[in-house]
Amino acid sequence: MSAVPLIPGVPVIEDGTLTSTNPVTGAVVGTFPVAGAEDLAAAVAGAREAGAWWRRLGFDGRRERLLRWAGAIARRLPELTALMHAEGGKPVADATVEAAAALEHLAWAAKNARRVLRLRRQRGSIMLAEFSAWLEYQPYGVVGVIGPWNYPIHTPMGSLAYALAAGNAVVFKPSEYTPAIADWYVQRFAEVVPEQPVLQIVFGGGETGAALVASGVDKVAFTGSTATGKKIMAACAETLTPVLLECGGKDAMIVDSDADLDAAADACCWGALTNAGQACVSIERAYVVAPVYDAFLDKLVGRVSKLRVGGDADADLGPITMPGQIDIIARHIDDALSRGGRAVVGGREAVQPPFVHPTILVDVPQDSTAITEETFGPTLTVTKVADADEAVRLANATSYGLGGAVFGRARALSLARRMRSGMTAVNGTLSFAGMGSLPFGGTGDSGIGRIHGADGLREFARPKAITKRR
Ligand code: NAD
Repeated sequence: MSAVPLIPGVPVIEDGTLTSTNPVTGAVVGTFPVAGAEDLAAAVAGAREAGAWWRRLGFDGRRERLLRWAGAIARRLPELTALMHAEGGKPVADATVEAAAALEHLAWAAKNARRVLRLRRQRGSIMLAEFSAWLEYQPYGVVGVIGPWNYPIHTPMGSLAYALAAGNAVVFKPSEYTPAIADWYVQRFAEVVPEQPVLQIVFGGGETGAALVASGVDKVAFTGSTATGKKIMAACAETLTPVLLECGGKDAMIVDSDADLDAAADACCWGALTNAGQACVSIERAYVVAPVYDAFLDKLVGRVSKLRVGGDADADLGPITMPGQIDIIARHIDDALSRGGRAVVGGREAVQPPFVHPTILVDVPQDSTAITEETFGPTLTVTKVADADEAVRLANATSYGLGGAVFGRARALSLARRMRSGMTAVNGTLSFAGMGSLPFGGTGDSGIGRIHGADGLREFARPKAITKRR
């Protein structure tokens, strides 16, 4: 290996090789060949041929193979979570929760594809006196899946499992930060589907991702930043390639006056800080009504102050996986503090690369970047509001619209419905992410389309209408 990693965690792409490293120690985790345009053309051609075989297996055959894939991953889970810790720096408890949620989605897609997508006779139209009619959902062909590093199995699985269950073949480019993790579970797939290269993996950075988008795949499923999502959508516009975009977020949590404040503080702590805040659905803003503001903040500060940050497998918060993100987190903290905000936990001194300690900011102006831009770190702003209406107004005053949370009783459900987001948890945070049957995705800068659930299956199939004169 010729590459010498300069910064722990920063992948090196050199001489046709991608090298991934641990974000704390810089230890090399894996080396992989970088795919160029020719490799991608070969991968797509191979996947297209394999896809014809995969479709012939039918829903039941695919279900059986996909469930065997889930079993193959589950049987060796400690190996996977150790790799997630080694390559992403993720604490093993977080890695285990992530992998379990990924397996839930894999199993759900496998078990429900037939029910959701199969050919079905249509009823209920007066036209049907003269015609018979059917609807079925047919696979696109080859889907190009591009993934991020922050949930290196859970996030791609929302596209991989659903695309495969729907009858597509897949060419998958994982993040350059976490190639070894992706390679590990794609190998498990090859063990249970040895006959044909139905799921192919290619390695590289943004250039390889862009080449995959341009490679002639029939659909692109992207998860990553909004900026990259916009570039991919523009590229897909050239060929009218359908595109699914799961992008960034700036989720808000509302705490109403009748909330259980202990439960709210527990859930906020988890929702804002799990995976060191490196989640698209992290709670980054809390809006708390005035009568319960002080009590909620006290409880939250008490909980957050006890968390332990470190590079070991048992830490509560691990490192920031992508070193470049640390500057953005620091800038957001600086902006908030320089404009009248206060840190009640953490602050500027919380930034100790490769770690950022939990930081709670209060009195932050609503036009500060800590409020308006995705921070993607263990920081949270807590804002006092007059009432629930103001809370909803401020929660919705963002270009993003991914997830969110409401704590309260009487008005909680109606507040949840008024939040401009694809998903909102009531009296919990992030709970929607692990449920197989619920669609996952957002509005505005958070993306287009849905993974998970029946909508997630339909995202990977074209509706086909058939009529026949009687
Ligand atoms: P990123 O946009 O930098 O990279 C994502 C992937 O896109 C990587 O595989 C990268 O190599 C590839 N890529 C980069 N440039 C490309 C291009 N021009 N064409 C094609 N592919 C290209 O994002 P990231 O830093 O890996 O992930 C963090 C972001 O992902 C955050 O914004 C987070 O909110 C978001 N995210 C969203 C979800 C969701 O479901 N909505 C889930 C996880 C992460």
